[in-house]
Amino acid sequence: MTRPLDPALFVRPELRALGAYHLDLTPSRHKLDQNEVPWDLPRRFKEEMAARLLAADWARYPDFHADELRRDLGRLHGHPFEGVLVGNGSNELLSVALTALVAPGTEVLGAEPSFGLYRSFVLKAGGVPRFLPPRADLKIPIDDLEAEVERDPRRPLLLCTPNNPTGDALTVERVERLLDRLEAPLLLDNAYGEFCQYDYRPLLARYPHLIVFRTFSKAWSLAGMRLGYLLADPRLVTELIKVKLPYNLGHPGVIAGRVALEADAEARRRVRLLVARRPQWAAMLAAEGFEVFPSEANFLLIRCSPPEKAREVREMLEARSIRVRDVSGYPGLAGCIRVSIGTGASLRATRAALRGEPSPPGPLSRPLPPSLTGRGGEGRMGRVERTTGETRIHLNLNLDGGARHIQVPNGFFAHMLTALATHAGLGIDLTAEGDTHVDLHHTVEDVGIALGEALAGALGDRRGIVRFAHAYAPLDEALARAVIDLSGRGTFHYAAPPEIAGGWVTADFPLTLVADFFQAFADRGRLTLHLDILAARNGHHAAEAAFKAAALALRQAIARRSGSTDVPSTKGTLSA
Ligand code: PMP
Repeated sequence: MTRPLDPALFVRPELRALGAYHLDLTPSRHKLDQNEVPWDLPRRFKEEMAARLLAADWARYPDFHADELRRDLGRLHGHPFEGVLVGNGSNELLSVALTALVAPGTEVLGAEPSFGLYRSFVLKAGGVPRFLPPRADLKIPIDDLEAEVERDPRRPLLLCTPNNPTGDALTVERVERLLDRLEAPLLLDNAYGEFCQYDYRPLLARYPHLIVFRTFSKAWSLAGMRLGYLLADPRLVTELIKVKLPYNLGHPGVIAGRVALEADAEARRRVRLLVARRPQWAAMLAAEGFEVFPSEANFLLIRCSPPEKAREVREMLEARSIRVRDVSGYPGLAGCIRVSIGTGASLRATRAALRGEPSPPGPLSRPLPPSLTGRGGEGRMGRVERTTGETRIHLNLNLDGGARHIQVPNGFFAHMLTALATHAGLGIDLTAEGDTHVDLHHTVEDVGIALGEALAGALGDRRGIVRFAHAYAPLDEALARAVIDLSGRGTFHYAAPPEIAGGWVTADFPLTLVADFFQAFADRGRLTLHLDILAARNGHHAAEAAFKAAALALRQAIARRSGSTDVPSTKGTLSA
């Protein structure tokens, strides 16, 4: 017999009253609604994570509190590791800290509008949210908060700066004034701290009641891994550890975090790019008639006039596969939309949509027409035209030699491409333009993509080629080795001596770009490339030796085997 019992009624009434967190997670071409960064972690770091995960013993519990990751974070921030706590996103730690710090029935100070989950975190902890109402200019109501703290300094204060969803941030001095008056913890959510001009971390050494929350979900490109941390006084963390569940992070999270931290130069580059793009997005949105609020984060709050237009704008953008966040239901935000800073391609697509113009060309390369893949007489040719929001590339490649004309917006890169074409015996006509005022990265990577695609086009079904080859190239003390298999599969392995791997070749060309270039080339050229810089004293020699080794190996691998038109594979195909 079934009993007419609703088990939901057993749940604490104040929790049953909470709304569920819901978002549309279906794929979208331009995903600008969750303040993620638009770039995944480069593949080589994901491969490194996967390799370490394979080597781990899955049958064993992980470390209780992920101490190795805590130590890495302590080193990164110059903070004692005993004062670091890691969790499944900063959300988990916000919830843990509030549970530990809020006595049932006590008030927690905060301000509206802010991150939507705060209210539920406070209620779950048994506290009473006392969130001050929005100001007309949507800035954090710091004077009002200060007055509240002076009235009763013993209430915990939960503050988001830079604030989501407004983008406003408090100066360090204003936070310091609050801390001087407060006799309870300040939970400072600094999820967007990497994008902000104000750095609150130095306050940690002087104010033991400050807790700074950070996340791997934004600047570190790891939202999908659920990883966050807090920095606080070690005495406080010792207590919070008892509230957090033991083993809260499994092997994947710990490994992902540690590898991401080793790639901190990547994170800094992403942050630089997004901060440089922020005024471009702001100018574009202002030019399209929106009120744009100043932002210290990787998103912008905009207001439509009249406010009813917000829904129409969101739906029109959604219809063009551009997803933004309608925040018009938040206190004080009627007519407002939040837009994450995306790539140049997303900016162009958004502008075109807002203007009612056709979408600009997508990020895909135009495949070469078969008539231009001439074989025989004039050589094995590949041609690519590629236009994205970030770069514009025209490339004609002849595997059997010919004139070399290379025009790219960076002298060193041109020098490397010339070395590659010369030593591989390629004919090449290449013109590339890109958003190099932001960073060289897109241009270098997209030329790698174009060269790979042109190579794959010129090789066709890969009949009659040598296929496997390797070469060493020295440059004075530097030595690089390239091993190539025109396998039909894009695989890239790269290694460089640690003391130069993160360094610079020239003032605007990091050595990591060499790896990014060949990664893109191997992917799109569908070839296996093992590129090892075996020795080098500086980045310039390392890069040049790497390009030359790759060129010499490529020359042999693409050479024709005399008299053979077979596909050099026991499978009978290198194109599937
Ligand atoms: N705080 C703020 C202000 C946020 O915007 C977010 C994510 N949108 C978070 C915390 C949660 O971050 P995590 O992914 O680390 O849980």
